[in-house]
Amino acid sequence: MRRAPTMHEPPPIAFFFSDEYARFDYGAAHPMRISRLALTVEVAGAYGLLDGPGVRVLPAKPAPDEDLHRFHRPEYLAALKRASAGEPGWDLLRWGLGSGDNPTFPGLYEYSALLAGATLSAGRLVEAGEVRVAFNIAGGLHHAAPARASGFCYVNDAAVLIAEFLARGRRVAYVDIDAHHGDGVQFGFYDTDRVLTISLHETGETLFPGTGFPEETGAGPGEGFSVNVPLAPGTDDEIFLWALEAVVPPLLRAYAPDLLVTQLGIDTHRTDPLAHLKLTIQGFRRAVEILRGCDLPWVALGGGGYDLANVPRAWAAAWAVMTGREIPDLLPDAARRALQEQGIRLETLSDPLAPPDPLERAQAWRYARASVAAVQELIFPRFGLAAGGAVPARGVPMG
Ligand SMILES: [Zn+2]
Repeated sequence: MRRAPTMHEPPPIAFFFSDEYARFDYGAAHPMRISRLALTVEVAGAYGLLDGPGVRVLPAKPAPDEDLHRFHRPEYLAALKRASAGEPGWDLLRWGLGSGDNPTFPGLYEYSALLAGATLSAGRLVEAGEVRVAFNIAGGLHHAAPARASGFCYVNDAAVLIAEFLARGRRVAYVDIDAHHGDGVQFGFYDTDRVLTISLHETGETLFPGTGFPEETGAGPGEGFSVNVPLAPGTDDEIFLWALEAVVPPLLRAYAPDLLVTQLGIDTHRTDPLAHLKLTIQGFRRAVEILRGCDLPWVALGGGGYDLANVPRAWAAAWAVMTGREIPDLLPDAARRALQEQGIRLETLSDPLAPPDPLERAQAWRYARASVAAVQELIFPRFGLAAGGAVPARGVPMG
């Protein structure tokens, strides 16, 4: 007989992974290293976070074509399959395939379908109420468009899932804290009020894809449902978390979606080679805590992160937040060894403090304050929120 859960048991949560990911490779010179996923599992496993009460570790299963068609055009998926099989094609560049960012590598279709399948399984479990949170570390490929690969992303798993939620009449909030603007998801749902997209990212003035300004607020019935908080190079934990707190919890409370989908890229980290923000692992973890505090049925996805030393620590820390467990800062021996095998010597999950550059920091504060003020002016009134009223004053240096 099944035992009813007691008050003391944490609600079940699910972590998705596949050993199959190791079969695929963007190429030795490409910044996207698929090995970061297995390394994350090693670090989380070393902390004992992948077992225990309520924790379900589930395999990724490939999404069938008909699921991917909810967001992607059939002609594009056909081109992806040809590229994946190594068939030469004069038209591949037309779909964004074969450029430096989006190389054609063997099995890229299978890889994309597999990680999108994990996102769909995660979403369905959460939607059915079987788990409160599901985390697919391989997901969050937020740049892919319906008929175009972009920014290392071939299949936009978040958009495929959101499209499926919409088909079942759900209202969805999508929050993206990757260093890059979540353009593929934003523009995929730009004209509907049934998806609220919020992206905090390094400004398009200095970083790919060059979009994500506060004035991009949506179109038609979707006007007011695309929210962008661009941030300047040098934005650190305090500035990032201030902007996140000012914008995300009030909008999520006001919108009250059925489901929350988040993209948790860690290319915001101060050592990331592709972007110029200055977050630490502990700052990122705090951001995940704020998202958890919004207390919604939650599908968490991975995303960018191009320093192999950061990804496993960040996503193990994120998963610890999702489990509700406290973990020691000192990395367990097995985690240290796994990192060492990759040439990474680290003792702790968190990062040491670094002296700030006062001028850069002042500029980053100014930029963040302007972005948040623009969002409060352009977006907040539509949700019945006072422009400026929701910003906590604490921790904000004035002048
Ligand atoms: Zn990114």
